[in-house]
Amino acid sequence: MGRLSLSIAMPIPLVAWLLAGPGDLAAQAVSLVSPEGAVDWNRFYTAAETNQVLGEFHDLYPELTELYSIGESLLGQPLMVIEITNQATGPAEEKPALYVDGGIHAAELTGSAVATYLVGHLLNGYGTDERVTRLLDGTAFYIRPKFNPDGSDLVLLHDQPLRSTTRPVDDDEDGVPDDDPPNDLDGDGWIMQMRIPDPEGLFVADPDDPRILVRDEERTRPGPRYRLETEGLDDDGDGERNEDGIGGIDMNRNFPRNWERWHIQPGAGNYPLSEPETRAAVEFIDSHRNIGGIVHGHTSGGFVYRLPSASAPSLFPEDDLALILHLGEEYTRTTGRPVIPSSTDPVEHRYGTLISWGYWDQGVIGWVPEYSPGPEEWVTDYDGDGEISAAEELRFDDEELGGRYFVEWTPYDHPELGSVEIGGWRTRFWGQNPPPEFLEAEAAKQMPWILYLAEQAPRLELSGPTVTALDDGTFRVEATVSNTGYLPTSITDRGVVGRERADGTLDRQVVRAPAVTLTAVGVEIVDGPARRPIAHLAGSNQYLQAVTESSRTVSWLVRPSGAERAVRVTASADKAGTVQSGWVRIP
Ligand SMILES: [Zn+2]
Repeated sequence: MGRLSLSIAMPIPLVAWLLAGPGDLAAQAVSLVSPEGAVDWNRFYTAAETNQVLGEFHDLYPELTELYSIGESLLGQPLMVIEITNQATGPAEEKPALYVDGGIHAAELTGSAVATYLVGHLLNGYGTDERVTRLLDGTAFYIRPKFNPDGSDLVLLHDQPLRSTTRPVDDDEDGVPDDDPPNDLDGDGWIMQMRIPDPEGLFVADPDDPRILVRDEERTRPGPRYRLETEGLDDDGDGERNEDGIGGIDMNRNFPRNWERWHIQPGAGNYPLSEPETRAAVEFIDSHRNIGGIVHGHTSGGFVYRLPSASAPSLFPEDDLALILHLGEEYTRTTGRPVIPSSTDPVEHRYGTLISWGYWDQGVIGWVPEYSPGPEEWVTDYDGDGEISAAEELRFDDEELGGRYFVEWTPYDHPELGSVEIGGWRTRFWGQNPPPEFLEAEAAKQMPWILYLAEQAPRLELSGPTVTALDDGTFRVEATVSNTGYLPTSITDRGVVGRERADGTLDRQVVRAPAVTLTAVGVEIVDGPARRPIAHLAGSNQYLQAVTESSRTVSWLVRPSGAERAVRVTASADKAGTVQSGWVRIP
């Protein structure tokens, strides 16, 4: 516990409790990755275990990975990123890249699982899977499986509900933050439901299987009535139970583009990037300009949220919307699941989301996959009516999963409520996330589209330089740079927004213009600077009217000034990588 700083505003008992789950998180004696790269993917891993998986993969594939921390969580855990590319074909920063994370929302554990699975899929696939091999030779991945290690550990180890970070928030405004979370009254390690006999209650027990509670607002069904509450006590004595749980900030409302204060956007935090986890994300993406796409993994729903996110749909550029719809088609084709807009209302929408910042401030397209559709994905439709009933869910859990995900209603003498029963679905792994038995299948399903997104990157190619002697003793050096990828070097229409120069080209663009640079030995460049910015280069996509030319020729005039004379050309584009010619002799 020595790494924990005492300066953080967190009750020390909570810190100790959170980080001391079952087993010592700091010391793991057992390998989680086999020498062949095999991992038990049908498991949810804590932050420490996930970092161990990353570390063991890094040891196994040192020529394909870099592993580093990009900051510390509120409770002092490292925020780990694994960088994956074939380093023999160039460093990551000289290649187009895709950023993938998971778990910004504490309970959305599948997001972290999919991101970790991607690490294994890429590394184990290099040299055996042709598609993966080609990708890692020309592309980089930055993968951050545990965006929010504190929050996800609190959920995984203690089943506490919280939206994001453990930063205390006084939800009930009684002057004391986090003083009435749910309580594990029966000590089984789970926060379950309490069914409380109540003549006014909305639920009745199903006569065919009294474990099932049927919602009966019309009050047409006979039988004892119940109301449901989350397992817990009135810890702060204000007459309400569980109304001031741990945390309260929603970190995906804490990003700096179109951020709004708490009274308009609940959970926003006190100011943009108030959280170390969100700040680390923005600093990392901003300083890795080769990132051309963001996959921000959430759970659940079984769909992908697309842009626009934190803005009115009418303000969103049409060309980019057409491109986004096109890129989303491949998700539906490979998963059978829909892509839906994150923002649909002209006025009301989310504020301060990561993908909104990524688009408006970095010019890149972000996606919010909500992994795992819910029980219909794994439960058998026994009667074949096309729907999964509560009875079918229970039967499947009973027969196929040993009844692990439904806790029998068990009498409990509640100090405030009298006789109640505690039980119900373990919804954390039956709805919000899939049961771990089905986790690998869910993760594997996401791979084709994630690889596809990486494959759409812009990609530079260089021809030349050619050298032509002129009559006045100078030479013209000429090179042509092309974008052979799908996306333009600006990625989006947003990327080419900038300040107009006198010559009609753009300066200070959202995505910096590509540049072609001449490196010369024994000659002097006589017609201007060595580094020549050029306009963005179109890819093969048809959507962007602001960028239409996919190649450009650049020339320099040079005059011999030394005995050994040679030139080479380097072309670079933030989102399309760097390519360099060999040396060409000047006669
Ligand atoms: Zn979420």
